[in-house]
Amino acid sequence: MAKYDELHLLIDGERLGPKGRASREVRSPATGAVIGTLPHASKADLDRALDAAARTFKEWRKVSAYERSKVLKRAADLMRERIDHIATLMTMEQGKTLAEARGEVIGTADTFEWYGEEGKRAYGRLIPSRDGSTSHAVTKEPVGVVAAFAPWNFPAVTAARKIAPALAAGCSVIIKPAEETPATPLALVKALEDAGLPKGVVNVVFGEPSEVSTHLIASPIVRKISFTGSTAVGKHLAKLAADGVKRCTMELGGHAPVIIFDDADLDQAVNLSTMFKFRNAGQVCTNPTRFFVHDAVHDAFVKRFSEAARTLPVGNGLDTNNKMGPVANPRRVDAMQDLIGDAQKHGAKVHTGGERIGNEGYFWKPTIMSDVPVDSKIMNVEPFGPVAAINRFTRFDDVIEEANRLPYGLAGYAFTQSSKTASAVSGALDTGLVGINTFVISLPETPFGGVKESGYGLESGAEGLDAYLATKFVAHA
Ligand code: NAD
Repeated sequence: MAKYDELHLLIDGERLGPKGRASREVRSPATGAVIGTLPHASKADLDRALDAAARTFKEWRKVSAYERSKVLKRAADLMRERIDHIATLMTMEQGKTLAEARGEVIGTADTFEWYGEEGKRAYGRLIPSRDGSTSHAVTKEPVGVVAAFAPWNFPAVTAARKIAPALAAGCSVIIKPAEETPATPLALVKALEDAGLPKGVVNVVFGEPSEVSTHLIASPIVRKISFTGSTAVGKHLAKLAADGVKRCTMELGGHAPVIIFDDADLDQAVNLSTMFKFRNAGQVCTNPTRFFVHDAVHDAFVKRFSEAARTLPVGNGLDTNNKMGPVANPRRVDAMQDLIGDAQKHGAKVHTGGERIGNEGYFWKPTIMSDVPVDSKIMNVEPFGPVAAINRFTRFDDVIEEANRLPYGLAGYAFTQSSKTASAVSGALDTGLVGINTFVISLPETPFGGVKESGYGLESGAEGLDAYLATKFVAHA
């Protein structure tokens, strides 16, 4: 059995264990067995983290962008060197396959490296003054202490998208990763420490999520909130942040439409849909969830997609023969049961899957449904699991209306070989991200974020750095 790391809080460079603190168990989603004990931060611990972040912000902001860059890039190299260890931790606590976990570690290292470079480009500008003698300068400054909240589905890369640009901009950070997947983000922060990050610039806390977020967001020390998670929790945190008029980045839920037109390359559509639908057992905010397939190719697509799903090897992610691991926690099993059962009651057809696999761990069969009425829950609530709902369409305007019907607006996809249709659908989808003949819409260098209730503020790319910068205008007569 692979070895799991000892868990701790990290406050002002000090590792604080479970002894004398409230704690919780961390379980393997593949077996249900307890693999670690996670300490919860007390209010005094959180106050210490706030003080450390306030103190170190004053020092870290003065370190030149060039020096900050060196730390981020060294950390990226260490993450690459430690890929086997970090990926194994991730598979043990989150469930995804080792191949996926390794891919995530590479994306995480790339994110630190990319922001190490981009931090050097936090340029200001000079604006010509009206009188010709006053100087009008615009500068970019780090926004201040950041309170970040990262989820369990991508425990490395979602934390990286907050920590890397914040550090590159000169901010200090208190991060509360998800309590279900704590070892992965702790391993990333260890790489930052080993790369020379001064102690206390990044602090890692765990606890009762609502207690930690309420305490941190209420503190006048915190100037910026960044959250990735469900729309319901995002709305709650945005309200807390509004009390202190604090800047927010909210990366929330999605329910991505995939429109497969009659001129699509069906081999490509089936292969990529299988790969990306079941990646991370469907627990991805940009996961393709609502498939709308043109009447002319609907039956062929359903048949081939169902066959591919039926034969996908599912099992413990540590076994490299498996292509899909368990869902991450028992809540997702309950959600699958509820959403699929409800769709069946509404008349949906289940072509494959639709049930749990065994009783050990949290495995769910890759599931394909068709003829799913739009008033069934699954067509309205983010499924966050290995289930695809497929419906047919004939008219462009009708499918766009249905694709845009929900309050979510994160990702949308289409498969077509016509550039005219590609251009029309890209313009018509009311989402922050669009993929045409691809599901790859998230890279360190490209902006990532949604519209409507999928959130606001962007991560990744130049926009992701700007989220941690305040713009100052200085007039000098
Ligand atoms: P949840 O809504 O309870 O939690 C979602 C995330 O928010 C978790 O990481 C959790 O630790 C955190 N959280 C919960 N309450 C919080 C609070 N008061 N303050 C700070 N953080 C808090 O649900 P869940 O069962 O963990 O996940 C289910 C749903 O969450 C999914 O259906 C999906 O919609 C959404 N989700 C989205 C993402 C994403 O990448 N956008 C990631 C994870 C979960």
